[in-house]
Amino acid sequence: MATRVCPLEDIVPNAGVAALVDGEQVAIFRLDDNSVHAVGNQDPFSRANVLSRGIVGDLRGELVVASPVYKQHFSLATGRCIEDASARIPVYDARVEEGWVVVEPRKQVATTCCYCGVGCGVVVSTHKHGVFSVKGDHAHPANRGQLCTKGTALHLSTDAGTRLLYPEVDGARSSWDQALDHAAGKFRQIIAAHGPDAVAFYISGQLLTEDYYVFNKLAKGLVGTNNVDTNSRLCMSSAVAGYKKSLGADAPPCAYEDIDVADLILIAGSNTAFAHPIVYRRIEEARAKNPRLKLVVIDPRATVTARAADLHLALKPGTDVALFNAMLHVIERDGLADFQFKNSKTENFENLKPLIDQWTPERAAEVCDLPVEKIVEAARLFGRAKAALSLYCQGLNQSASGTWKNCALINLHLATGQIGRPGAGPFSLTGQPNAMGGREVGGMANLLAGHRDVDNPEHRKEVAAFWGIDAVPSQPGKTAVEMFEAIGRGEIKAVWIACTNPVQSMPDANAVRKALERAEFVVVQDAYRDAETCDYADVLLPAASWAEKEGTVTNSERSISRVRAAVAPPGEARADWRIAVDFARRLSPAGENLFSYQTPEQVFNEHRASTRGRDLDITGLSYGVLERDGPQQWPYPEGAKGGRTRLYTDGVFPTPSGRARFVATEYLPPAEEPDAEFPLRLNTGRLRDQWHSMTRTGLVARLFSHSPEPEIVLSVFDCKKDNLSNGNLVRVASRRGSTVMKVRASDDMRPGDAFVAMHWGGRFTSGVGTNALTVPAIDPYSKQPELKHAAIRLEPFAARWRGAFAAPATPERHRVASESLARFDYASLSLAEGPEILLRLELACAGEPDLAALTALEKAFGQPPETGVEAFEPAVCACFKVSEAEIRAAVAAGATLAALQKDLKCGTNCGSCVPELRRLAAA
Ligand code: SF4
Repeated sequence: MATRVCPLEDIVPNAGVAALVDGEQVAIFRLDDNSVHAVGNQDPFSRANVLSRGIVGDLRGELVVASPVYKQHFSLATGRCIEDASARIPVYDARVEEGWVVVEPRKQVATTCCYCGVGCGVVVSTHKHGVFSVKGDHAHPANRGQLCTKGTALHLSTDAGTRLLYPEVDGARSSWDQALDHAAGKFRQIIAAHGPDAVAFYISGQLLTEDYYVFNKLAKGLVGTNNVDTNSRLCMSSAVAGYKKSLGADAPPCAYEDIDVADLILIAGSNTAFAHPIVYRRIEEARAKNPRLKLVVIDPRATVTARAADLHLALKPGTDVALFNAMLHVIERDGLADFQFKNSKTENFENLKPLIDQWTPERAAEVCDLPVEKIVEAARLFGRAKAALSLYCQGLNQSASGTWKNCALINLHLATGQIGRPGAGPFSLTGQPNAMGGREVGGMANLLAGHRDVDNPEHRKEVAAFWGIDAVPSQPGKTAVEMFEAIGRGEIKAVWIACTNPVQSMPDANAVRKALERAEFVVVQDAYRDAETCDYADVLLPAASWAEKEGTVTNSERSISRVRAAVAPPGEARADWRIAVDFARRLSPAGENLFSYQTPEQVFNEHRASTRGRDLDITGLSYGVLERDGPQQWPYPEGAKGGRTRLYTDGVFPTPSGRARFVATEYLPPAEEPDAEFPLRLNTGRLRDQWHSMTRTGLVARLFSHSPEPEIVLSVFDCKKDNLSNGNLVRVASRRGSTVMKVRASDDMRPGDAFVAMHWGGRFTSGVGTNALTVPAIDPYSKQPELKHAAIRLEPFAARWRGAFAAPATPERHRVASESLARFDYASLSLAEGPEILLRLELACAGEPDLAALTALEKAFGQPPETGVEAFEPAVCACFKVSEAEIRAAVAAGATLAALQKDLKCGTNCGSCVPELRRLAAA
């Protein structure tokens, strides 16, 4: 509620007073013209509540208050510190009413982080200009108040500069009515001429459950096609297929609290410290409390996570099934299996046994390129553990044999009875914030609402009856890779893409671009105008984004959280579910009845009803329960007093026999093995501080400081062999495309292996980026593409010209720089935090530079390019900008981790860099 502070006449013109507004100190200034301005009273540099005593005035055309302590100036309009762009103070809505000064308090809204599947709770604080700050929600069970670097910087990513604000048709602004009528007309026309399977919907694991539900019903219930798939196909579908084949349902059996009580944690194919930082911090805390807790990491790279392990198995990429089979061989041979559990709770071991008998550790050692002793040690640690928990992610999933990799790992749990008990179980770490919610509503080509399957006639009947339609289509839909291939062949003529950027994120991105060029009609519904996919849209629809939407998401541990709006969306942006409903009502008369929702809660309630009697039954859950009790794990059936922490505690599994199934997992090599022409293995993965195609994290200068530019990481051995040094440019080529990158030599890498971050696309580099290289081969069961294994070669790149620009970031400079990227052989665009946010652009070309592009850049940056390019110094600690060189110098002088934290402040804010600090301190 607004606070009446004092009569205006009580404040001297051009002076300030301090007041308490909803418990916060606010500095209120009256100007000559009797206007009033209110900002936070605390000077962020001295932390003293003094700004009400500062002098107000004009500084270079901006109305500011000067701090009486260190003399920094703060804009009264925006709160920005004039001398340091990284510092801001809150700005309050202040006005004069009936002679009194009235100030609106800041709003605090509890919601959920929009990045990874950990699903952390955040408390958003708003001010006059929108989101002002975020902090971890202590009441949220996923993070208990902690946030990683990305979460901590969420408030810095809400700048409207790159937002899509208005609908566009053929590149021109239009009204919502015009855009949706046009889209509905084109879809109707194509469906009438070619049938419903000539259209498709490609959606996202970052949509909320309510958005997802509406899109799925739109495709399967109204249009009559199963052509609805999602970018979750790129990250989680092998985990889903593995759970369903082995355990009978897509249901992670574990909870985060299992980390606290496990005595063995096996991490496979996940750099958890970077990709799921808050889960990793929980592992660190558990290890600190329980020194007997063993950590085993299976990863070709010696990542920060792997280096912290008691045992690291740096296997040859793609050979996980051979390793897991051999571990099971040792468990059986050494009598470490739980025969009682196997005999009474599982089936099909007899079909697996002949295969396992062949997978001796010696054979696996050859295939995996590992010492026999390490395989035996890992198996014995697993077999002897009282509670073994495995955590896994894209290293298993993004593979042409991803389903087998998941099943082979689950086989270990079934053989040892390590499931359904505290601290035990196979726990898939979800990549995206709501990949699981999407599966719950059936938002994929092979699924139906409430964990039902398209290929099950009974399930189709149930869903058709639930929706009140004649039938759900039986023809399987096209999954992500298949969908874009069908678009490329002209079979799918219209595609609706929502909340995802396939031009950057799909494998073989050049082919995806060609497919979208061929498509007859493309609708892109997105929050960001500069996402690469927007370039291919006939219709662009502006969507609301994080902190602007209401709904729910489900995280890795089956926990459903409320997502709440703290601010209004900018321009004419609308919630995703609302856009799909508005389209459905225009598409066909039946749409009016099927999509009569007015609120996301109504959508949630319908989804809830669809789960009755299913494994994920949430008929006892409501927005009201989530408001009252906070996040809840499914199932939560009617009458339940709470969600269920752990599944299968009774040893009964959702299979026809009630038993879990051993799966005979034959090892299959990667789809594209290296050869004489392309001799290196490319692995792709995540950086610590970036998210997916960087539409949001790429707006935040701080999030570039850890890894500022696209690099190919090679082993020290390969660099020496090819005479390459850090910073050298090379052309990285696969059979599908190429890109020029800088080299970084690292002892994290096995000889013959290379690593490139998945994030780099056409907005930060020249050309298509990382996915120019990747292979579109898919797993036959999960249809997930093998994004983590491709054969590549390095081609020499002799730069005839190199140059760099750096200047304060402005929208115009950013526009010119972005447009120039494709005109150079090598380009790297980034932001750097400092007194001002700097835009940095590094360029190189093999021939003469494009003069027109260079001239435009010189004009935009106000200077010619620097030709002696200064190397970036990456920061280990992004929050306090502490570089590796500074840390190494301190360690050389005897600093411990505690001393580093005390003297340099690194690792004392979000804590994401602590694993790296620990490694450097121990070096
Ligand atoms: Fe967000 Fe980081 Fe939590 Fe993931 S770990 S949900 S990115 S704060």
